[in-house]
Amino acid sequence: MEYLDVNWTLANCTGKPLNWFFSLKQSEIKLAKGLCADCPIKQDCLQYSVEKDEFGLWAGLTRKERLDLYGGHQEQESQMD
Ligand code: SF4
Repeated sequence: MEYLDVNWTLANCTGKPLNWFFSLKQSEIKLAKGLCADCPIKQDCLQYSVEKDEFGLWAGLTRKERLDLYGGHQEQESQMD
């Protein structure tokens, strides 16, 4: 999935502070996760972020949470080369 394959214009995080999604503060992480909880493109966001191994919070999950749930997609690909 490529970035332009996702309709980001529908995202709940549009216009919200980006730093919430890269914060170490629990209060800001909670705000970001709240936006993601009912985001209409959450599944696309999750797929994109897992495939691209993005940093920060995407689809309500931190990078560590995504890696724990879905593994290191890119690492798995490079091991198959
Ligand atoms: S799921 Fe969260 S990070 Fe992804 S587009 Fe929606 S609000 Fe933004």
